[in-house]
Amino acid sequence: MKIAEIFHSVQGEGKLAGAPSVFVRTSGCNLRCVWCDTPYTSWNPEGSERSVDDIANAVLGYKSKYVVVTGGEPMIAPGVVDLTQRLRAEGLHITIETAGTVTADVACDLMSISPKLSHSTPVDDPRWAQVHERTRLRYDVLEQLRDRYPCQWKFVVAAPGDMAEIEEVAKRLNLNPDDVLLMAEGRSPEAIAAKAQWIVPLCLDRGYRYSPRIHVDIWGDKRGV
Ligand code: SF4
Repeated sequence: MKIAEIFHSVQGEGKLAGAPSVFVRTSGCNLRCVWCDTPYTSWNPEGSERSVDDIANAVLGYKSKYVVVTGGEPMIAPGVVDLTQRLRAEGLHITIETAGTVTADVACDLMSISPKLSHSTPVDDPRWAQVHERTRLRYDVLEQLRDRYPCQWKFVVAAPGDMAEIEEVAKRLNLNPDDVLLMAEGRSPEAIAAKAQWIVPLCLDRGYRYSPRIHVDIWGDKRGV
């Protein structure tokens, strides 16, 4: 598997925010979000080939209860099924962070799905814009993931106008509001705090959760945290 980084930190986002976790970041993605905060796994994928054994040993070395398999898009990584089954056999709690466009027979305790809204499309890159737009919302895949795994639905919000799209996805998938999290788009604590001013009232109104981005608050736009 091509791995960009493995590191130990606190989960910054979602229902497990604050939990000490080992992150396995696969490199490679089938989407190209214009605001991607890990372009070294999508636009310019970096990393090295590592075996499932090597990755599992690195994870187990941290003696953490929680492991987060993220990306890029981990569900397209060759070996992700073997890796998750191996980590499950070791008794770890596994979160997979995915855009929800591909399924695989993974072992997973929390499927953290981040459906991509129209503001993610890279309109200045016609070739990728077409691929991205065709791929970013696969309701057949989202339904399969919803029905098979415990899920949280983490939406990146850039503007109040995004709510119509979020509500459409939530309605079509019949999501429990308690499993829906709104997360501010932004790469700095200041940008996130500014958006939180209007995102939090939207959460209060709809019964959604507000998701922090603890790693950005602490370290800003930095890798390996
Ligand atoms: S799905 Fe995630 S990794 Fe892929 S381009 Fe979008 S933000 Fe980046």
